[in-house]
Amino acid sequence: MKETTIAAIATPNAPGGIGIVRISGRDAIITADKIFRAVNGKSITASKGYRAYFGEVFDGNEKIDEAVCLVFRSPKSYTGEDVAEISCHGGLYVTKRVLRAALNAGAVPAEAGEFTKRAFLNGKIDLAGSESVMALIGASGRQAASAALNTLEGNLSKKIKECADSVIGICASLAAWVDYPDEDIEEISTDEMLDTFRKTKSELEAIIHRYDCGRAVTDGVDSVIVGRPNVGKSTLMNLLTGFERSIVTDIAGTTRDVIEERIVLGDIILRIADTAGIHDTENIVENIGVDMAKRRLERAELILAVFDGSSPLNEDDMQIIRQCEGRKCVAILNKSDLPEKADRDKLSEYFPKLVEISAISGEGENELEKAISDVLSANEFDPNAACLTSERQRSCCVSAVERLGEAIDALENGVTYDAVNVCADCAIDSLLELTGEKASAAVVDEVFSRFCVGK
Ligand code: GDP
Repeated sequence: MKETTIAAIATPNAPGGIGIVRISGRDAIITADKIFRAVNGKSITASKGYRAYFGEVFDGNEKIDEAVCLVFRSPKSYTGEDVAEISCHGGLYVTKRVLRAALNAGAVPAEAGEFTKRAFLNGKIDLAGSESVMALIGASGRQAASAALNTLEGNLSKKIKECADSVIGICASLAAWVDYPDEDIEEISTDEMLDTFRKTKSELEAIIHRYDCGRAVTDGVDSVIVGRPNVGKSTLMNLLTGFERSIVTDIAGTTRDVIEERIVLGDIILRIADTAGIHDTENIVENIGVDMAKRRLERAELILAVFDGSSPLNEDDMQIIRQCEGRKCVAILNKSDLPEKADRDKLSEYFPKLVEISAISGEGENELEKAISDVLSANEFDPNAACLTSERQRSCCVSAVERLGEAIDALENGVTYDAVNVCADCAIDSLLELTGEKASAAVVDEVFSRFCVGK
């Protein structure tokens, strides 16, 4: 158990029904006892775990609030340490005042993620599980939440451990064989090794693929709406966000800045930017907007390219078409409520996904949602399978796949077994870094620094 006792507000910094101050550490219950008086008159220091007490919170002689104090005893608590949680009235002032009382009573302010970090250091949760706590808190949709919960429950770690164990099995045999050449140790066959490495590699690749498909429903995909002026980009943006956000006029060049929104379309989250119409202009201010739009277009993962169905395609449209080449893209033929004049067949030649909509009436919105989901392969995401929940986990997986690929190449090219062993060992290290079994202190600190205070 850590020497210091930490305290922090665990609920949002906003008025609410309940505010919770969490205290964890060797002296958590003694600290809580200094500021909390139960109505039954008994000291909570004698309390067993899993008990709730009703009483009042004091700072010295000053009464602050009525509250409920929950007592958890080590190791049966979130952090694995003694924990007291004081639930007072949620309010900007009251909750902060209770925290101050706890600090005056000897606790120190908790750092970001310190409760979960202690849970990790005390073996209550692994590193991948810790990250899923943040993913669960930040989840903005059903699928994202169930994927994070699934990882929190250990499904990812179990799968990664299985992968690591099968490679460890091979490495153990290889090491024994390399280190004791004179002993009568049965040589492991190249085929057996190749089989295990290939199988493990493809399982890890499937996990990475699922994460990539799932980012559309977990983190959201960086997207951009492009199109020449007046095709209806702002109107579409307003349709998708559900309220008037962009200025809609029929004067070309009204949208001069890049407006970003988080849009939830069914299960898909788009971080979407409505950009100034990309076209040549003499106007300096407008030009800045056009440049921003071009940069945004370059780095976007998904492009929604809007065309005006009621007018023929022109050179500006052709420029947009060229910019979309080779990118994940949905073409939108807007203004379907007006007679069609655009060359739909020509557009179909360039875009495998073409959707007809009327941004003004909302017709075609469901088809657009389906097309976006298809382009992003979002339907291949399975929140019930082992799910990665962070880029850190993804890069550990990618590095394990690369090292296994090297081990396979080495075997196929008849390189010595100790070289194969080195590659396989590195793959194991990457997998153990993912679960945290072999993560450096710097990696652990980096993971928890992204947490919020109080978690
Ligand atoms: P932007 O310059 O691409 O952002 O285009 P706007 O969204 O500002 O729209 C330009 C004009 O087209 C406005 O007068 C809109 O009302 C009109 N408009 C947009 N979408 C539709 C649509 O689906 N049908 C019709 N009839 N007009 C539309």
